[in-house]
Amino acid sequence: MLKQIKTAALTALGLAAVAAPAAADGEVNVYSYRQPELIKPLTDAFTKETGIKVNVAYLKKGMVERLQAEGDRSPADLVLTVDISRLAAVVNAGVTQPVTSDALKANVPALYHDPENHWWGLTTRARIVYASQDRVAEGEVTTYEDLADPKWKGRICTRSGTNAYNVALTAAVIHHLGEEGAKTWLEGVKANLARKPQGNDRAQVKAIWSGECDIAIGNTYYMGKMLSDDEQKDWAESVNIVFPTFEGAGTHVNISGVAMTKAAPNKENALKMMEFLTSPVAQEIYADANFEYPIAPGTEPVGLVKSWGDFAADDVNLMTLAALRSAALKLTEQVDFDN
Ligand code: FE
Repeated sequence: MLKQIKTAALTALGLAAVAAPAAADGEVNVYSYRQPELIKPLTDAFTKETGIKVNVAYLKKGMVERLQAEGDRSPADLVLTVDISRLAAVVNAGVTQPVTSDALKANVPALYHDPENHWWGLTTRARIVYASQDRVAEGEVTTYEDLADPKWKGRICTRSGTNAYNVALTAAVIHHLGEEGAKTWLEGVKANLARKPQGNDRAQVKAIWSGECDIAIGNTYYMGKMLSDDEQKDWAESVNIVFPTFEGAGTHVNISGVAMTKAAPNKENALKMMEFLTSPVAQEIYADANFEYPIAPGTEPVGLVKSWGDFAADDVNLMTLAALRSAALKLTEQVDFDN
């Protein structure tokens, strides 16, 4: 019996050994949390340039669990996702491997890849303030610290404090102000809320439009998305984008990125695709599709995004913020932010 199993295992290995080089000539397999309309233009361009076929599994959830369950037999070579919490989660689960190359280093500034090289950033988005054009004067809000100022009492809207975007922001607050400072900040912002945290980022802008609040916290690209939507256009046109900074530092950004799986069967093609995705041209295609910011030296966002203004991103590596995630979540729960 044991011998049979061994033989079967060897046969499987033998088949894999034969199959691997053939596959390595022709394809690369991607697990993506990002939508087809963002990924398709890139995979098409990559295939056109290299002849390498790209197979994408679009997942809504459970990527880490799936990679863990598949183990060494996973067909996935690359994972594509957004938000530092998701990138850190795949890395911390041990299902990725470090990769580096001259092209990757040239394309991605040090701030925007994992210091251990498990993930490489592709685009950023800033978490900013949407301010009512009618009820908020220019210069009235300039820092994240400002949001806790009692002058905003009853005037701020936000989604849940436990949402990944807000947890990353709170992690940045801890990084800059320490845990005690962050707790005081969360309490201050909570005291200023016009209503219980609810809805998504766009729902907050709608609430400004309808007069429920004067400022809201949200991601930059939603401005582009709202402007492209007949119903939401009015919401977008009722607000200005303000890029707050931390006092003496920059604006909080989050990231989309790519990582190579530990089991990657098509490693060479996967590296080629990572280098392609991080290339300036590909970053601009990817960024433009979702109104985000490319990060390669010399790249520029699309005109509409550029029109929102320049900003200096906070110069903290996002893995530092990922390490503060659980502390941020704990503080958010401690101050009972959502109630
Ligand atoms: Fe989003």
